[in-house]
Amino acid sequence: MTTEYQSEQRLTMLKKRTKRCVCKYCGHKLYLRKIIFSDFEDARVEIFCEHCGRMEFGIEPEIYFSAKYFVEEMEFSFFPDLDDNEQTKQLNIAKACEVMAWENQNIGILNQDGFTVPITANANILGECVILGDDDLQEDDEIDLSKLKAVRI
Ligand SMILES: [Zn+2]
Repeated sequence: MTTEYQSEQRLTMLKKRTKRCVCKYCGHKLYLRKIIFSDFEDARVEIFCEHCGRMEFGIEPEIYFSAKYFVEEMEFSFFPDLDDNEQTKQLNIAKACEVMAWENQNIGILNQDGFTVPITANANILGECVILGDDDLQEDDEIDLSKLKAVRI
């Protein structure tokens, strides 16, 4: 692995996001994985959604559930030409997450470490919020790179 990708700061940020954030497509818990891109490139550590089988930087759960609510209740679609199915719904939720996160970052209440101010989320929207398990990750855990599961994409 290159020094750049192995930097302690980046790993700490990824670890915190893995613990705090959810997948912006499906809302599932995220994991740190060693991603293998090709035989010619070293593996590198990224956040991964096992449910979607994709690398995913993650989104604050409050934003995910706001976006999900917005797409479902307002029947909003960024992709009106696509079939109305589960995959399109996930694309819409992910896009709404991006818009909401972009706005939150621009007004200065969100950065890569999460919200910078205390937020009061609407309980109706967050009612079905997942309880993020901490089965495999504690805040102060050392990351043992040799024990991370590898994924080839
Ligand atoms: Zn996912």
